[in-house]
Amino acid sequence: MISPTANEALAALLAGNQRFAAGASLGPRRSADRRAEVAGAQRPFAAVIACSDSRMPPEIIFDCGLGDLFVIRVAGNVLDDVVLGSVEFAVTSLGVGLVLVLGHSRCGAVMAALEGGEPPGHIGSVVERIRPALAWVKAAGGDVVDAAIRANIEMSVAALRTSQPILAPLVTDGRLQIVGAHYDLTTGLVEILDR
Ligand SMILES: [Zn+2]
Repeated sequence: MISPTANEALAALLAGNQRFAAGASLGPRRSADRRAEVAGAQRPFAAVIACSDSRMPPEIIFDCGLGDLFVIRVAGNVLDDVVLGSVEFAVTSLGVGLVLVLGHSRCGAVMAALEGGEPPGHIGSVVERIRPALAWVKAAGGDVVDAAIRANIEMSVAALRTSQPILAPLVTDGRLQIVGAHYDLTTGLVEILDR
């Protein structure tokens, strides 16, 4: 069950994305006045775990401004303890009631995981966290890259929803909504994968 707060937050994100995709962004809450307004304290209405891909800054694709979104960006929108701790901070200290996991079309990190092999340096740390999602799609057929991207989003959503000791109880109580979303680099549209 979606709390009204999370529902409203999701509606605001999707409305902003519709403006962006239509080329009608308002660029709200980016003025010096807004900067002054939020300088003392932040109260973002949503947290977003998004891929680092340069073509999808959450504040731009959701047509948001300063103090609106608590954004965590990491290649492949993967989870680790630091990402998880950041989400927990947003939820417990900032009162965020909606967490969005935002993947996207043609994600290079997911494609690297599909290619297999051992990437150089620490890139393997990213790919390793995507690989378990590939097991979810092997039998799916069709567009394997697209299926893997969606499975990777769903895997993170499932992990967050069951994360102890902080997130899972809040999800069960209906005080926290965690939602998967897919951004299309071509259309600019965000699709909600589940609720
Ligand atoms: Zn990506």
